Amino acid sequence: MDTSQNLSRLSAIVQSSEDAIISKNLDGIITSWNPAAETIFGYTSEEAMGKNIRIIIPDDLINEENIIISRVRRGEQIGHYETVRRKKDGTLFVVAVTVSPIRDENENVIGASKIVRDITELKSAEQKQAMLAAIVDSSDDAIVSKNLDGIITSWNTGAEKIFGYSQSEVIGKHISIIIPKDRVDEETVIIQKIRNGERVSHFETVRRRKDGREINISLTVSPVKDKNGKVIGASKVARDISERAELERQRQLFTERLQEINHYKDEFMAMASHELKTPLTVIKANLQILEHKMQGDNKIDFVNKTLNQVNKLSNLITDLLDISKIQNGVLELNLTAFDLIPFLAEVIGSIQKTSPDHKINLITKSKKLLIRADSNRLEQVMVNILTNAVKYSPNGKIITVESAMQDSNVVVKITDHGIGIHQDDIDKIFTRFFRVRGLASTFSGSGIGLYISSEIIKRHGGNMWVESEIDKGSTFYFNLPADKSQK
Ligand code: ADP
Repeated sequence: MDTSQNLSRLSAIVQSSEDAIISKNLDGIITSWNPAAETIFGYTSEEAMGKNIRIIIPDDLINEENIIISRVRRGEQIGHYETVRRKKDGTLFVVAVTVSPIRDENENVIGASKIVRDITELKSAEQKQAMLAAIVDSSDDAIVSKNLDGIITSWNTGAEKIFGYSQSEVIGKHISIIIPKDRVDEETVIIQKIRNGERVSHFETVRRRKDGREINISLTVSPVKDKNGKVIGASKVARDISERAELERQRQLFTERLQEINHYKDEFMAMASHELKTPLTVIKANLQILEHKMQGDNKIDFVNKTLNQVNKLSNLITDLLDISKIQNGVLELNLTAFDLIPFLAEVIGSIQKTSPDHKINLITKSKKLLIRADSNRLEQVMVNILTNAVKYSPNGKIITVESAMQDSNVVVKITDHGIGIHQDDIDKIFTRFFRVRGLASTFSGSGIGLYISSEIIKRHGGNMWVESEIDKGSTFYFNLPADKSQK
């Protein structure tokens, strides 16, 4: 092959190369610029030729270029170094460069040729991989991969910590090394799912550490696929949940213990109330006889006061017994059909007698409001709401009771203008023994009445609720299904 043939072949290679091939003289002036250089840097050959090579070098890398030129002057070749170059539009990108000296016929270095390859994509793929590797390595979870035969192919630091085996001890071993004997079947099921391309999420199970200790873990296993989408293995992420499982176990034990204690307390309360009730009934009967016999005696006042206190005690015991009945689901209702309006008038009348300072009004548009209910239990509810309305309204003297039909329910509404209830306490006042904090010194009470009342209403198939504003007053509501069997 003669020289001219050789030259034209070389020229063809340069023209068709995918890498930028550039030459420059020792002053840095560009003397050749192939088509790939045009594509990579964005400068046409006309734009680049005769310019200083600095047009493609970021300002802060000029020094690097000077060092390279001086090495080329000494006749050195600089093979494959990675650096950054600048395109015509200013974007910087990562390149791999090889620089070789160009010599004249006397072997004097007169310039340099550069082969520049754009490695941006390669770099970002490498970076991504390095980042993923770092994530896997720094994870506290065990991240393990295995092939479809269950052979371990990777094992991160988290896995070393959780299972106690170092990487070199387990790579190439079967995953059953960490599976307790009675759970080996699990692995077969998991592998079957993985073969089908399915994932196993947050599966809570037990695994065995190198020291033999069994630990609770939460496992997520995902299929690993090759480029063609074929499942070739599985990746497992395992989290040690022993601590959580232990806490859960303790919580469960604690709850069971509390339930047990609560049950004893209920039993004790029921038994004590029952045992108190009998002597108290005898005391009350005797006091009543005494009161009768002492009419006109100036010492009758002592008897009356005692009887009063005995009545309070008796009511409290009745309430405690009611609570036991509700708790044990044995609160029985004796249902009869009656008209609510005269019933309300009567209850209001009796409360009005003992609360002369307040005025209790009854408002109703209906002539008749027929319900089927246990009238004694309903009286208990009304007495409780009305005595509360009186008790918690030391300054608001008007109390209103309204009743009306609403859809197929009868609604009763009791409004007072008293101290009101804070929004935070509204939902709590119907629970057992709840009393609004700070009230005890001013208002006596036990926090039982509203609990029993709302349970009685619920047992009737109704509901009880309250609307209230501090210092403005409260409105208690309850509804009951209307009795449609009568007219
Ligand atoms: P208590 O015997 O304490 O009155 P209740 O179960 O009847 O028990 O009521 C529970 C709590 O609800 C009361 O302690 C009180 O704080 C609040 N409460 C009940 N009714 C009213 C009302 N009409 N106005 C303001 N607060 C009330």
